[in-house]
Amino acid sequence: MKTFNVPIIYRSPLITAIKQKRKQQDRMKKDFTPTLLDFGALKILLARHFGFCYGVENAIEIAFKTIEENPGKRIFLLSEMIHNPHVNSDLLEKGVQFIMDTSGKQLVPWEALQPDDIVIIPAFGTTLEIEAQLTSLGISPVQYNTTCPFVERVWNKAEQIGEKNYTVIVHGKPGHEETRATFSHSLHNTPTVVVNDMAEARILGEFMTGQRPASDFAGLFKGQYSPGFNVETDLQRVGVVNQTTMLATETQAIADYIKGIIMQQYQLTEATAGERFADTRDTLCYATNDNQSAVNGMLATNADLAIVVGGYNSSNTSHLVELCEEKMPTYFISSEEKILSEKEILHWDFHHKQELHSLHFLPEQTPATIMLTSGASCPDALVEGVIRKLLTFYGLEHKADELADQLMNN
Ligand code: SF4
Repeated sequence: MKTFNVPIIYRSPLITAIKQKRKQQDRMKKDFTPTLLDFGALKILLARHFGFCYGVENAIEIAFKTIEENPGKRIFLLSEMIHNPHVNSDLLEKGVQFIMDTSGKQLVPWEALQPDDIVIIPAFGTTLEIEAQLTSLGISPVQYNTTCPFVERVWNKAEQIGEKNYTVIVHGKPGHEETRATFSHSLHNTPTVVVNDMAEARILGEFMTGQRPASDFAGLFKGQYSPGFNVETDLQRVGVVNQTTMLATETQAIADYIKGIIMQQYQLTEATAGERFADTRDTLCYATNDNQSAVNGMLATNADLAIVVGGYNSSNTSHLVELCEEKMPTYFISSEEKILSEKEILHWDFHHKQELHSLHFLPEQTPATIMLTSGASCPDALVEGVIRKLLTFYGLEHKADELADQLMNN
């Protein structure tokens, strides 16, 4: 896979050395067991796959290169570059301005933009309406476009099935930038509806089978369906695509559920299901899949707790937390700064959108075993920071450098 020129501050020599060693041992990435970092009184189980993905590295490289090559120019980002506060604040410090916040609220009015301004499209992509808005202002929406190719692949899939007259069901968070972009691209080809989760998929299923009156649809899916969507005729031939960072198992469950309804409704078999249910198996992103598989691999072993590092508004990170939470106490933190001491930690409760303050998060006995991973928009340097902070609580701070030296000299 292509390598990118990402600012050195985001890299970690220790994590890079660990990842490279695992890669040499398992080039085809078939082994999702964690890496054991055995420091004696502290054992860290580091996920096999975590951290910056292809799309994030690509976006960061383009953004920083654009800043470097355009001194004196006004540079805007449509919204957050990626869902990581550290990367976003570095960009803001370099003078970049965000036009919108993550929910789509305008921070800089369109009228304030001028034709010679630079506008960077983030990795999530954007809507066709915003592209048209930029074009009308004399600003190219394609020159500084960092839309991830894996997001574009979803758009292409939606377009392909739309052209074959399938309605597109998007499994995604309706307010998320990527889902808004996918929705916009898809609705220009075919009727499109967004479902947030399995509960909404079941409600949609009730419309498909006629268990719910069509008149309820507009209220229940407000803002989530394309103009003119006809619930009676537009749910007879469908395909499911997803926001690339959803929980893989949930997307699969939704697709299976919708397919089951279609097969039952129209008396189809596995062999004939394709007449009314489009095969979209391949719209999950590789990084989401690998990071979730690595967490599942990690959870097959035992530990006292799990720590997941990433931006609090990062969708892919929250799904890693969701998986860990099922098995053990899990702390979702944005950096080592949230670990206040060996007794206190601040961590994000993404279910209730609040930061919690917990005490005695580390086990009293040693050795302590901690699972550690991070989201696709989290710099490895932050994961190294967490390892170093944890080591200090056991008087083992020198061990991180020793391990890095050992790995690099082998
Ligand atoms: S998580 Fe996947 S789709 Fe999103 S930017 Fe990364 S590689 Fe692209």
